[in-house]
Amino acid sequence: MPRLHAELEEGEGEREQRFLPDHCEESKTRGKVYLVGAGPGDPELITVKGLRCLRAAEVVVYDRLVNPALLEEVPLAARRIFVGKQPGRCSLRQEEINALLIEQARLGRIVVRLKGGDPFVFGRGGEEALALAEAGIAFEVVPGLTSAIAVPAYAGIPVTQRGQAGVLTIVTGHETPEHAAPLVDWEALAKLDGTVVILMGVATLPTISQRLLAAGLASTTPVAVIEQGTVPQQRMVTGPLAEIAGRVTTAGLRSPAVIVIGRVVELSALLSWFAPSFQPEGHAATFLP
Ligand code: SAH
Repeated sequence: MPRLHAELEEGEGEREQRFLPDHCEESKTRGKVYLVGAGPGDPELITVKGLRCLRAAEVVVYDRLVNPALLEEVPLAARRIFVGKQPGRCSLRQEEINALLIEQARLGRIVVRLKGGDPFVFGRGGEEALALAEAGIAFEVVPGLTSAIAVPAYAGIPVTQRGQAGVLTIVTGHETPEHAAPLVDWEALAKLDGTVVILMGVATLPTISQRLLAAGLASTTPVAVIEQGTVPQQRMVTGPLAEIAGRVTTAGLRSPAVIVIGRVVELSALLSWFAPSFQPEGHAATFLP
């Protein structure tokens, strides 16, 4: 095990001594924030290091996309603070989350900021790291498996299959293409002969697919939409670009879902190995050709 975590292996006495790297003496008195990726959903997909952070946490600040099973790893005495959005209730604003992390670290605590997937992939982990750096708070980043790659993998889609996709682009669908200053150049994406993975794109899929079609992407381009990937509730709808938005609406797929566009999607027919054992009530299985 890396030296960083040696404290945790030296028995109960030392265990009290914190989960801190030797080089960071200062943080032993001031606390520290670990920005930890929880992985895409299946709680077993957190990293060994991420799990160690959870087990050593004094405060855990977590989001909606984090599997609650992971919180069972947190010591009973630790504070658990939910900062995600819930229907009908406001979530904390990003500045409030930043302030909370800083405040808890200044109280000398080991703070784990647990985020779905990878903290730096559309997770605003970068903003939190910047706020911590600015405030002079010690922090570490523990990357996680991003849903952009792991969810397709659970659907049997190798995102960069040799000979089929030499380019992988991960984009946000959150911004509508009509947005004043769009972050995503959909026209340029249509011209890349590779795989496009869209996060946060279910609501905007009709607009996105129209935009890609208008930019010349073939209407037959295979698309997969995978809802709640890597957990038993996983569902997938596939179809050609021209029809995918309609199929997703019919099947009632909702966020969180990953959209995969490109030839590699066809491989899911051969490689779809994950057999979800649970279907949400009222929804038939939607594994379409
Ligand atoms: N940092 C995260 C992404 C946060 S943005 C990561 O690296 O995975 C949130 C989006 O991630 C969701 O809207 C959805 O598009 C995707 N997502 C996260 N978990 C998912 C899951 N289990 N199944 C499908 N999509 C998921």
